[in-house]
Amino acid sequence: MSEITLDKNAPAIDVQQLHKYFGENQVLKGIDFHVDRGQVVCVIGPSGSGKSTLLRCVNLLEQPTEGKIFVEGIEITDPDVNVDALRSRIGMVFQQFNLFPHLTVLDNLTISQVKVKKRNKGEAVEIARKNLEKVGLAHREDAYPAHLSGGQQQRIAIARALSMEPDMMLFDEPTSALDPELVGDVLQVMKDLATEGMTMMVVTHEMGFAREVGDNLVFMDGGVIVEEGLPTEVLGNPQHERTQLFLSKVL
Ligand code: ADP
Ligand code: MG
Repeated sequence: MSEITLDKNAPAIDVQQLHKYFGENQVLKGIDFHVDRGQVVCVIGPSGSGKSTLLRCVNLLEQPTEGKIFVEGIEITDPDVNVDALRSRIGMVFQQFNLFPHLTVLDNLTISQVKVKKRNKGEAVEIARKNLEKVGLAHREDAYPAHLSGGQQQRIAIARALSMEPDMMLFDEPTSALDPELVGDVLQVMKDLATEGMTMMVVTHEMGFAREVGDNLVFMDGGVIVEEGLPTEVLGNPQHERTQLFLSKVL
């Protein structure tokens, strides 16, 4: 994926008729949707509906079975795509923070910058510190992950992803593993990112966040998008019975 072929007018993410099978199990059954640049799209739906699989197809952690996905105008479902170049444009944050336990916070933030982005150590440290500042954890750069709370670890994971200076961020239930009192700080960091104009796709059960920060809300069930639209409309006036049933359980 070279700089020259990037289409700056194309949507950040454009998914067309995406199907995904795991063996015989059809998990995604024809997904169409797009995320515009600077937009925050939240994805909700019951467990097993295919939310994580959809997110993982966007950075090719899962190989789509059928259909096309374009990232910034480049077809990533093309077998010749440069997967490393694609992933360096997309930051990903998981439910389980996936920090390197044997590295300090600062080293967690610099290692990929040096290895993948080929930055020199000084530059990598500078970028890391800027992002630690952003998530409110500049004072913990020498700590090891095990000595941080879950909420702090997740903010570090976000700072690590940001240190690669991605064009967009994917979040897969970033607060689901956290004690309730730690959720707010992580959501605040994500809200700040959205305010700065970061393109974001967020799988979440935090309906307050979806309502407040989301530009668009997608409800998935059984491998299809049942309903999507403005968060206030989908949450306040769901059109489909399945959406109503789901929301009646979680709201
Ligand atoms: P969600 O994130 O909405 O809970 P997932 O995308 O994780 O849903 O899973 C959707 C379905 O795909 C589930 O039935 C799950 O068991 C199945 N699945 C997910 N990942 C794999 C995998 N790597 N191998 C086989 N089946 C999988
Ligand atoms: Mg999931």
